[in-house]
Amino acid sequence: MQVPFVDLKAQHRSIMDEITAKITRVLERADFILGEDVERLEEEFAIFCNVEHAVGVDNGLSALTLLLKAYDIGPGDEVIVPANSFIATAAAVTFCGAKPVLVDVDPITYNMDPLQLENAINWHTKAVIPVHLYGAPADMNPILKIADKYDLVVIEDAAQAHGAWYKDKRTGSLGDAAGFSLYPGKNLGASGDAGILVTNNAETARRVRAMRNCGQVAKYIHEFAPHNHRLDTMQAAIVRVKLQYIDAWNALRQQHARLYNELLADSGVITPAVSQDAQSVWHLYVIRVSNRDDLKQYLTEQGIATGIHYPIPIHLQPFYKDLGYKRGAFPITELYADQCLSLPMFPELTVEQIEYVVDAIKTFMVNTDSEPLLAPYNPVETAAD
Ligand SMILES: *Cc1c(COP(=O)(O)O)cnc(C)c1O
Repeated sequence: MQVPFVDLKAQHRSIMDEITAKITRVLERADFILGEDVERLEEEFAIFCNVEHAVGVDNGLSALTLLLKAYDIGPGDEVIVPANSFIATAAAVTFCGAKPVLVDVDPITYNMDPLQLENAINWHTKAVIPVHLYGAPADMNPILKIADKYDLVVIEDAAQAHGAWYKDKRTGSLGDAAGFSLYPGKNLGASGDAGILVTNNAETARRVRAMRNCGQVAKYIHEFAPHNHRLDTMQAAIVRVKLQYIDAWNALRQQHARLYNELLADSGVITPAVSQDAQSVWHLYVIRVSNRDDLKQYLTEQGIATGIHYPIPIHLQPFYKDLGYKRGAFPITELYADQCLSLPMFPELTVEQIEYVVDAIKTFMVNTDSEPLLAPYNPVETAAD
């Protein structure tokens, strides 16, 4: 049996006719730049997140960068981001001219640790970017409380968490604003690069709307730096089709995560934990094991594709050597970079495929002397419920 890591072809097969019809309509209208589908997607995505404004942009990194700029964050400012994330979270801070300050993550949820956040705040700190990593919302209430106390802007990096819930709120509606990626492999993805940002703040929306389009507040009146970060109309049309299915697709991911959790319970690997207040949309299903590289190799031999998110933490990347962090700066992030393994996860995954993956993991675990990892302390509710 072959189990891919994600299967975009399967997703497209199910909606091919709808997508083709949408693309044809864009070609007929020829409104390629900021056309009707961009506007409609913005309305629909704002409703989906339960916020006032959505603005389509060219990718997720731009969404975060433009938001920071819209809040006048720049040179001399510091923005706190989790060490355990995709590099784009920190890159957005760098590209607005400010300095990313990293903090280690909570050992159970792998998301930003509020205590470490508060310890990293100083007079230069202007904002914080919690990441809803792997689709699981960060622990937002303590983060929002700290942000309120120190008057920080909160920008959610929701690139992996379209449609997730924290208590009774959708991701994207929790902070001052949020950036989403619509990269093809994300839970909600375009057929190319795309992104969208959301906010309840009308002035923030006005600014980013201008900033994405040559800084124009009206035709040929350029109030902001004339960069081009527009969302392509064709991509918006495709994403509108997929937005109709995202909740159903996320529900399937949740079902798969529950089954993985159940079947892996006594296997000796650490399964992912989600805080009680959060409902993950399982962008990734990430386990931990001491001899990760051997397990990855074994699964590859069995026809099972896996991923590592992320093998080299942000602070140890060559690009960020000037930030001055040494190995050992963020022990949890560094340890998990060596232990984490992302299993196949996508809506169309079958029960048979999941059972096959789990059987292979169990065979590997009983036949090797994998050093057992300590289960997380203070266990929170595992599973997708
Ligand atoms: C994918 C991703 C981004 C960036 O999105 P792009 O659309 O690729 O620019 C930012 N943050 C996180 C956590 C991501 O996973």
